[in-house]
Amino acid sequence: DEKKLKKFFIGAVDCGTTSSRFLIFDGIGSIIAQHQIEFDQKYPKSGWHEHDANELVSSVTECIEKATKEYLDQGHELSDLKTIGLTTQRETTVVWDTETGEPLHNAIAWPDTRTHKLVRELKERKGADQLQKLCGLPLSTYPSSVKLMWLLRHVDSVKKAYEEGRLAFGTVDTWLLYHLNGGKAKDLYVTDSTNASRTMFMNLDKLQYDDTLLDFFEIDKNKIRLPKIVPGSSSNAYGEIASGILKGVRIAGCLGDQSAALVGQQGFTPGSAKNTYGTGCFLLYNVGEKPVVSTHGLLATVAYDFGGQRKPVYALEGSIAVAGSGVKFLTNNLGFASESHQISELAGTVNDNGGCYFVTAFSGLFAPYWIDDAEGTIFGITQFTERGHIARATLEATCYQTRAILDAMEADSGHKLESLAVDGGMTNSDLCMQTQANIIGIPVDRPAMRETTALGAAIAAGFAMNIWKEFDELKEINQKGRTVFEPNVLKAEGDKMFKKWGRAVQMCRGWLD
Ligand code: ADP
Repeated sequence: DEKKLKKFFIGAVDCGTTSSRFLIFDGIGSIIAQHQIEFDQKYPKSGWHEHDANELVSSVTECIEKATKEYLDQGHELSDLKTIGLTTQRETTVVWDTETGEPLHNAIAWPDTRTHKLVRELKERKGADQLQKLCGLPLSTYPSSVKLMWLLRHVDSVKKAYEEGRLAFGTVDTWLLYHLNGGKAKDLYVTDSTNASRTMFMNLDKLQYDDTLLDFFEIDKNKIRLPKIVPGSSSNAYGEIASGILKGVRIAGCLGDQSAALVGQQGFTPGSAKNTYGTGCFLLYNVGEKPVVSTHGLLATVAYDFGGQRKPVYALEGSIAVAGSGVKFLTNNLGFASESHQISELAGTVNDNGGCYFVTAFSGLFAPYWIDDAEGTIFGITQFTERGHIARATLEATCYQTRAILDAMEADSGHKLESLAVDGGMTNSDLCMQTQANIIGIPVDRPAMRETTALGAAIAAGFAMNIWKEFDELKEINQKGRTVFEPNVLKAEGDKMFKKWGRAVQMCRGWLD
């Protein structure tokens, strides 16, 4: 039976915040070949964060070439690679010229906070308090809408292209699909609803652009090329690869990275959840076929939409801007170590945080706090403090925010989670995962194969191609070798630390002018 299952392969492009990857999975979700390329993180000013849009494309195409070559070198057939799925970082905003296909600015990455003054201005506007009801998101520096508005106000070439009707806007999925399909030659402008739900332009019930939202952000849809939101969009036809080693292979899945991770963890039933610890950390909780607009600081978003007989499924989301990027800050900026895993080892050289609390508010604080004017602050430093304490406080910062998000989720849904499924680079740290279990007081469940984001995109593509028809058929995928971290301290201990964290958060308000 296993042999039969292994007869086909599915590829997945995963363009995250820090790297691009292409992975090829077999029928039981094992990785057969993969290639990963880190791309440049540009921080031109404090709070600014950009990517070279062309580098996003070139890193993806190079990963496709390299991983596919590895696959062929193993003796596999190109014809057995049935389809590919695409998953991307969300909110990151790309603008390009419809006549030349060239980007008009670097992509503004999702954690970028250059818009914080604009957001302050927008919050004063009539109708500002009605937006979340329509799109599920609070007004903050995070969604694409404010990033596009900033570009239209500050970049002459973008403004000019808009006035002349040759401006294209897209999130990273749209930009990559445009290129993978052949760029100018094909002129494909599409997006899926999980990515579109992060722009703040999409009506969450209708899964289409909403004029009230576009008007609020001063976007005239006649002047700009907005990508078409494909119905049943997680799992649908997105054209085919136009050139290179996979020329002619169909792209049949498209999802934002956090949605893909939920699918990869098979969070298909209402009440299931996953938390992905990558550059940032994102907890998605499946609420079923009706969106739940949060009253406790969470986002409402499209979880996935497989189309056909299936209705779109929604999630409550808790977004944490800084998780693994805090670890990278300790290696790249402070020189604590050269590799991420050494930060976890450093944290293991001390018994506890030694009284240190690091509010890693490099992009303000996201869920459930939404404090735009917070900046990173370390509390509780004394002569006793060592680098190990700071390392531990950095890992703990994500764990506390996850706890705050779970508390909010419980308040919004009236349901308490029994265990937390996790994935993403930072979950490689056992110490971090044990700490997480202690702070939330429930088990943390980590799969052996942690490329769940890519796996989710592959699953979505497989459904579109009728390789699978029912979620039940996925049961065997990625279930082997999971590690469960049970809480191993008294609940009061975790509660006490969390309370102290809460005080630290309140003390970092109002830092940014
Ligand atoms: P993304 O998809 O957002 O680019 P990944 O899921 O690839 O992110 O995770 C990368 C992040 O995980 C990096 O920020 C890195 O610092 C962190 N990371 C990787 N390994 C470890 C580890 N052993 N301990 C702590 N953090 C880690």
